[in-house]
Amino acid sequence: MSQPTSDSVLLLQARFDQASAEEILRWGDREFGGDLTLACSFGAEDVVLLDIRSKLGLATPVFVLDTGRLHEETYDTMRRCQERYVIEFQVYAPDTARLQSLIRSKGPFSFYESFDNRKECCGIRKVEPLRRALDGRRAWVTGLRREQSVTREGLPKVELDEAHNGIFKMNPLADWAEDQVWNYIRANDVPYNALHDRGYPSIGCAPCTRAIQPGEHPRAGRWWWEQPEHKECGLHLRAIDLKERRAR
Ligand code: SF4
Repeated sequence: MSQPTSDSVLLLQARFDQASAEEILRWGDREFGGDLTLACSFGAEDVVLLDIRSKLGLATPVFVLDTGRLHEETYDTMRRCQERYVIEFQVYAPDTARLQSLIRSKGPFSFYESFDNRKECCGIRKVEPLRRALDGRRAWVTGLRREQSVTREGLPKVELDEAHNGIFKMNPLADWAEDQVWNYIRANDVPYNALHDRGYPSIGCAPCTRAIQPGEHPRAGRWWWEQPEHKECGLHLRAIDLKERRAR
């Protein structure tokens, strides 16, 4: 298949709106083969996707952004997934020179001081490595769900990723509820991050994630000192975010 355009993606959105995660992953594998890659940060949704990938017998490459500030429990989940699924994760680390320069000039906790500093750290540890991970790919898969945050409402199951050269982006779990994710994990005995049992529904870097209280929004523990509309690290900018950014 040739690369989807903004017209053809509308047809694909209609086609896949009610499709299962299995159908979407199988279709992506058929259409893009090795030019497709799956993002994994070992959150609950990501391990579900790893399990589906394995059950379908797909060889879709899986990449991991190792920011250098992940929780020990996240690395342990990675180890257990490596064993369970016999998979070699494609690991991307931050650029050494840029990271050294950041820490030398601003110290190891600059992200607490301002929104700009936080974006700078996410830029070096996540956004730039993601660019490398997607370089040369035609499509990628994420575990994003609409319910997760105000910035993800209306998320389609397939879209063009304007932030990454218009490549194809697939969000097969977009319409899954949190219960559905956990029912899948339990029913299939999928390895998951132990922090989920300690009040962490959403897990990122250790210094920027904390447990939430009952009744709080699932992403309340991410960058808890910021406003909800800022709670993205720049990995999943959508067309609407880019337009707002360009207008500033
Ligand atoms: S989540 Fe925090 S530590 Fe991780 S890259 Fe962003 S600002 Fe840096």
